[in-house]
Amino acid sequence: MKIYNTLNKKKEEFVPIEPGKVRMYVCGPTVYNLIHIGNARPMIVFDTVRRYMEHKGYEVNYVSNFTDVDDKIIKKAIEEGVEASVVSERYIAECKKDMESLNVKPATTHPLATQEICGMEEMIQTLIDKGHAYVAEDGTVYFRTRSFKEYGKLSHKNLDELEGGKRSLLVSGEDQKEDPLDFVLWKPKKEGEPYWESPWCNGRPGWHIECSVMSKKYLGEEIDIHAGGEDLVFPHHENEIAQSEAANGKTFARYWMHNAFLNIDNKKMSKSAGNFFTVRDILEKYDPMVLRFFMLSAHYRSQLNFSADLMEAAKNGLERIRTAVSNVKFLLQNAKEGALSETETALLAEAEGFTERFDEAMDDDFNTADALSVIFELVKFVNTNTNADSSKAFLQALLEKVETLCGICGLIVETKEELLDSDIEALIAERQAARKAKNFARADEIRNELLKKGIVLEDTREGVKWKRT
Ligand code: AMP
Ligand code: ZN
Repeated sequence: MKIYNTLNKKKEEFVPIEPGKVRMYVCGPTVYNLIHIGNARPMIVFDTVRRYMEHKGYEVNYVSNFTDVDDKIIKKAIEEGVEASVVSERYIAECKKDMESLNVKPATTHPLATQEICGMEEMIQTLIDKGHAYVAEDGTVYFRTRSFKEYGKLSHKNLDELEGGKRSLLVSGEDQKEDPLDFVLWKPKKEGEPYWESPWCNGRPGWHIECSVMSKKYLGEEIDIHAGGEDLVFPHHENEIAQSEAANGKTFARYWMHNAFLNIDNKKMSKSAGNFFTVRDILEKYDPMVLRFFMLSAHYRSQLNFSADLMEAAKNGLERIRTAVSNVKFLLQNAKEGALSETETALLAEAEGFTERFDEAMDDDFNTADALSVIFELVKFVNTNTNADSSKAFLQALLEKVETLCGICGLIVETKEELLDSDIEALIAERQAARKAKNFARADEIRNELLKKGIVLEDTREGVKWKRT
């Protein structure tokens, strides 16, 4: 299995630290809003990496954090007149719902920054003790960037270039820094912000330290894979390496994986420009598996442009697979028992070739675009070679093959159980009753259950409207 490693810009054979085990950390979202489809790209991509590794027999310890203390969360909390935790807890819950819809497996651990402050203070103290960090007059703690000789090795930047470009890494207190390249590990509280006590000042951690600390706590000082979107290479991941390697004296992560961006109209998605969609927006129009299929239709290191055309293509592609699966299931109802015919035995041997080619594509730095093409070829093969005379064993073997390959991509391909209008109305009535009784958990559960079956609800002034996607 080869992985493209941002660290040396090469595809490298994957060799885990501990045989049979993978320790993997994926930087998660900052939770101040519903996640947008850009945030969903790393979630889907790295969930697929995880699924493929599990399929290969690895035990994957997958850690992905939620950044639940941050300027944007605090700003939103102030606007709403609530505690920051109210905002972060709400959007963590919403994010988990979106992940479930997209069939993204929950991480082995989803640590929260606010629950790990002690560990962050410990690492900061170690960095101060080792001379890699210093405390400014107002209590801000800075990382002494030039003290880490390998700084820049991930983003392939050199320090003097960085300094020349006046690329500022600061969060606050620039004039107290020894060097413009130094970055914040801990900063003093501002009025009305959440804060924690520390030996340096009452305040809160900088963003980068949380991942160094959580990765160490849940996966150990050395890990196999660290991943995230390409915007995180610099400064976030560069700073994580500096902190972790300076504090622990060990290589932090062996393989660094970064997904390219999801754009809209060939432009960077941006909230300020208003050209972004939340996952929720898209799920109002499409089955969540269409979005997942769309994300996997390009290699994760290629830019992907979101467009209605590509979503329609994804919808049709998925439909083709689903139709084949439901045809085979239909044939299975009356298929004959007994042994495979000679022809069927030969065909199944031929079908092994699809699995091999699927694996080859995935072994080549998780080329899901090629892997999906192989699934299409398999589907064509199934359509061509199955009929009312096929044996049960043959049909089952082919069905299992399609489902296994789709399952590795996290694609659910069973045709949706068709709900009758009356069943939908009954569930909507139950949801309304649950809301009235303030049982919002049940109400949400019903909404999600319906969503999974392709029914979208819209709360309007005239009542609840529904439609099939
Ligand atoms: P954030 O909440 O901004 O820290 O982002 C969470 C994750 O989503 C990070 O791994 C980002 O790199 C990634 N991400 C954000 N926007 C996009 C985008 N438009 N395309 C792909 N990945 C993105
Ligand atoms: Zn991170």
